[in-house]
Amino acid sequence: MKQKLAINGGPATISKTFPWPVFDQAEIDSVADVVRSGKWGNPDCGDMVKDFEDEFAAYCGVKYAMTCVNGSVALRLALIAIGVRPGDEVIIPPYTFIATSSIVLEANCVPVFVDIDPDTYNLDAEKIEAAITNRTKAIIPVHFAGQACDMDKIMAVAKKHNLRVIEDACHGHGAEYKGMKLGSIGDAGCFSFQSSKNLTCGEGGMVITNDEKLYDMMNSLRNVGRVKGGQWYEHHKLGCNYRITQLQVVLLANQLKRLTAQTKQRHDNGTYLNSLLEKIDGIKPLARGVGETIHSYHIYIFKYDKSKFNNLPKAEFAKMLAAEGVPCFMGYPQPLYKQPLFREKNFMCYAIPEEVDYTKVSCPVTEKACYEEAVWIMQNAMLGSGEDMEKFSQAIIKIQKAVIG
Ligand SMILES: *Cc1c(COP(=O)(O)O)cnc(C)c1O
Repeated sequence: MKQKLAINGGPATISKTFPWPVFDQAEIDSVADVVRSGKWGNPDCGDMVKDFEDEFAAYCGVKYAMTCVNGSVALRLALIAIGVRPGDEVIIPPYTFIATSSIVLEANCVPVFVDIDPDTYNLDAEKIEAAITNRTKAIIPVHFAGQACDMDKIMAVAKKHNLRVIEDACHGHGAEYKGMKLGSIGDAGCFSFQSSKNLTCGEGGMVITNDEKLYDMMNSLRNVGRVKGGQWYEHHKLGCNYRITQLQVVLLANQLKRLTAQTKQRHDNGTYLNSLLEKIDGIKPLARGVGETIHSYHIYIFKYDKSKFNNLPKAEFAKMLAAEGVPCFMGYPQPLYKQPLFREKNFMCYAIPEEVDYTKVSCPVTEKACYEEAVWIMQNAMLGSGEDMEKFSQAIIKIQKAVIG
């Protein structure tokens, strides 16, 4: 039977909200304790910062972890620390947050866009090799939405061409590829603790690595170019102050205690929601199983086929679904290379050759994802119950029935 849609004043399918961040008195007490201690930051970042870094390194199964002010800076420091030179090319996907690309420009390097895989929306490992030139220095695979990239293939192609790999794991806290934590497989892995992310303290970032030289270099860059054993006012590198405060890390330490259970909840809900949405004609969840053992579902993405919804455009559909109470939206409106930043080359990157013209880039899979297919459900909704997942599915069916008429 056809029901009145919430967007037209009918009753919403779901009325509950999905709070984020999740916290209790433990978080409040931990911050209050730091406030009382008077040790909010520290010239050397403080013991609590180091303690949390060690804890996160152990959690990820790596030797070193370094906090910094945000995920963008984490990526930028990792890229500079691997030793890029002006004009070096860095391979990235165009279906990601702007920071994955802008940090490349900031390092005076050239972003080279390689399309995503239509089944997973991750960097298409099969297409990387064709984009490699003698100036290519690094690959930044993004574990998009919390689903692991095809790391075996990416690491193999990197090894063959002597490239460094920096994993953008800003969606992938706690997620795993073949039992290894995302971020622990490449030369470095970067995380964001911005407020929407699966592990958060409002703003913050982290780089993990097993490479001591890389770690020392990044540490110096974050700490105004100081070096181990150097004097306080002795500066060796072009760094800046990218340090985080004790207030932030005590929040993170408490949030980390919740992460394993939350990740399992999102993973299990994602698996269940896949089984429900697979049954709907015109809805297709992204494929799983390219080696990922735990999916962190920072975003739950499904593909929408408007031909099964009376040609209702995706953006309209997403608005209707949101009105039904599903925390969702249409995701990125366009590939990164279509942003004015790239089209108009609005950057002071003197190392980018004149002939680089981003208006000529074409990544059809990304374009289809942006313009037609992808609908995103946010991670806090994936912390709901099994019954909530059923309601998400029912809301889609309700819309389909209403628009088909
Ligand atoms: C959030 C995010 C970043 C940047 O992190 P910030 O902490 O916001 O600077 C980078 N890459 C991806 C994929 C992200 O989602």
